[in-house]
Amino acid sequence: MTIILVAIFGLVVGSYLGSLSYRIPRKHIKKWYEEENLEELNVSLEEDPEVVNSPRSKCPNCKKTLNWWELIPVFSYVLLRGRCSGCRQEISPSYVIIELTTALTAVLTYVLFGISVEAVLLFVLLSVLLLASSIDFKCYILPDFLTLPVAATGVVYCVLLYLNTVLLKPPFSNHALDSFSGGIIIPVFLIVFSWIFEKIRQKEGFGFGDIKLLSGIGFWFGLNGACASIVIGSILALINAVIMKFAKNKPVFGVYYPFGPFLYVGLLIWVFHFLIR
Ligand SMILES: [Zn+2]
Repeated sequence: MTIILVAIFGLVVGSYLGSLSYRIPRKHIKKWYEEENLEELNVSLEEDPEVVNSPRSKCPNCKKTLNWWELIPVFSYVLLRGRCSGCRQEISPSYVIIELTTALTAVLTYVLFGISVEAVLLFVLLSVLLLASSIDFKCYILPDFLTLPVAATGVVYCVLLYLNTVLLKPPFSNHALDSFSGGIIIPVFLIVFSWIFEKIRQKEGFGFGDIKLLSGIGFWFGLNGACASIVIGSILALINAVIMKFAKNKPVFGVYYPFGPFLYVGLLIWVFHFLIR
């Protein structure tokens, strides 16, 4: 019974994360345009104050305020067959994917830890990283206000480990040196790698957003967590590139891919392999 409640809780949180993944980029897009070369990446987003500032959820297309029955996670999407009830505009499946992923992480976290401090912490961290990578997926930006708090709290965790004040169970790192290595060495290695790549290929390797994201992952989940996230993430990105090339005939080289979602899925797979250990 509890597990069903946990799944429903995950769906509700996922629904909120989905709405944030729409609102955050449309609130900050002007600033991001000034700071990053988004035009080059073909990000065509506009500010949308009417939807962003509305306390109730609205259809981004016809601005209709959604009824309660249109806001039930997953269920409403299936009921409405993926379209707005007002204007029949297609609703992005990304919201359902975010809802289902959040529900899955809630259930797996519960199976791993029950209801405990570790469970709450893991669920919060994975939710913030999911939100960051879903924004990266849509706009090629990993917002600092999502990645930096993960890294900063990770530093605090590393210090507390050093002082022997706390000790969380795996997948959390349980040694200060391991946490430090994951949070510092991996990002520094990537910065050097990226710099060499840029010199040779004359284009950006890892984005700084990816590096900040990985630093947070490293501080919390140690060297293994950060390495697994990169290795599994890279394999998934490669598989994706092959599928793009052969199934959809899209170019692979010279195209920018957001890497955050792959790092996130890589981390997720690593975190939950602890269930079968
Ligand atoms: Zn509509």
